Amino acid sequence: MRLYNTLSKTIEEFTPYNENEVTMYTCGPTVYHYAHIGNLRTYIFEDILEKSLEYMGYNVKRVMNITDVGHMTSDADSGEDKMQKGAARENKTVWEIADYYTNAFFNDAAKLNIRKPLIIEKASDLIDDYIRIIEKLLKDGYAYISNNNVYFDISKIEDYYRLSGKNSNDLLVGARDDVELDEFKRNPYDFGLWFTVSKFENQAMQWDSPWGVGYPGWHIECSGIAIKHLGEYLDIHCGGIDNIFPHHTNEIAQSEAFLGHKWCKYWLHGEHLNEESGKMSKSKGEFLTVSLLEEKKYDPLAYRYFCLQSHYRNQLVFSYESLDIAANGYKKLVNRVNQIKNSPSGELEEDKLNEYQNLFKKALQNDLNTSSALTVLYDVIKDELLNNNTKLYLIASFDSVLSLDLLKEKEVEIDSKLLSYIEEKIEERNLAKKEKNYELADKIREELKEKGIIIEDGREGTTYEIIR
Ligand code: AMP
Ligand code: ZN
Repeated sequence: MRLYNTLSKTIEEFTPYNENEVTMYTCGPTVYHYAHIGNLRTYIFEDILEKSLEYMGYNVKRVMNITDVGHMTSDADSGEDKMQKGAARENKTVWEIADYYTNAFFNDAAKLNIRKPLIIEKASDLIDDYIRIIEKLLKDGYAYISNNNVYFDISKIEDYYRLSGKNSNDLLVGARDDVELDEFKRNPYDFGLWFTVSKFENQAMQWDSPWGVGYPGWHIECSGIAIKHLGEYLDIHCGGIDNIFPHHTNEIAQSEAFLGHKWCKYWLHGEHLNEESGKMSKSKGEFLTVSLLEEKKYDPLAYRYFCLQSHYRNQLVFSYESLDIAANGYKKLVNRVNQIKNSPSGELEEDKLNEYQNLFKKALQNDLNTSSALTVLYDVIKDELLNNNTKLYLIASFDSVLSLDLLKEKEVEIDSKLLSYIEEKIEERNLAKKEKNYELADKIREELKEKGIIIEDGREGTTYEIIR
């Protein structure tokens, strides 16, 4: 596999620490609201990465956190607490909010065929681990206590800005809104490891610690969870590009300071999905969720297909026009696969099979080029010299990575013409009944039945069911 590593800013040959198993850590959702389809683009990219590694023969051990504590509306230590904000919005406890939106996240992810990682850990469940790491950082002089909070001292790290490729001046000149001049920090980019003097008087999530009752900062969660489940050497860490700074930068600083050696080899970041008007948001404009797409009658997998058509490191702009095109393309693809499925023929052609599988692998090995991988799929479908059984085998094999349900029975789409036909017929029948023309009414019922439409008369009027 050749993958772009944000750490070196180059495409590198992937060689895991241990040749039999790849350890992979993914920053999980902050569960204060539904995920928008931009967030889910990142999880689709990570899902493809995990499945591609498996396709190449690796055994992948993947861990993801659920951020249910410590994440502010800015990615630094300023702004509002996202969980508190969610709880206030819905008049619920932060724990109820966390439970509800964790489930919602996995439901949406499942609709997009994003597989659940092997290990999922709630940030609030590993408080003792963070405390242990922070104690060592304090002991070794990487952290300090100020105003009863514990901060990480970034000046103790030689190459703190390595991942972002920036320096402190660039960042300050950019007048980032996520830097709050906190008089208790030695450096503006020092970050909170543990807060006891909460900015939020009504902070609901609090635990005992050697520094007083309080709660952990956001960044320490991911280091704590990754080290607990995947050990001291991590192969791959991923997230969206907004995670590069400060979140992943801080994860590297504190993990390597704690472990005393290099921690993660490959850092992979997915570019954002934007709206035509700019950044995707949960609070402004239309809140684009999987449920909204479903309400608008899109198959969620059409969105997955839309994402796979572009490279994960390219920005993607969402519009309904481009989703329509992708949805149409996806429908056609499923129909073509159905035609092949309906006429299976021939013995497996081993040579051709290997040839196409290698082309598919090559596309993915090239920094996860999913659009090239789709081209290989189309080449298989179009190949007139290839028998249908070999095609079906290849489609199933490719779909273990693409996860577009290409071979699954899809529900028959009900077109609007059929719906208006049924409604007209029911009206006609109601009229016939009113005029006591029962013969005609029965005739219409039979006519519909022959078409697979069963009607029933009830107190609420006539209802129908389409059975085929
Ligand atoms: P959050 O729930 O805010 O912690 O974000 C979950 C994931 O979504 C993180 O990996 C972010 O980097 C990623 N993300 C946030 N906004 C976008 C976007 N517009 N497009 C793609 N990924 C995003
Ligand atoms: Zn994280």
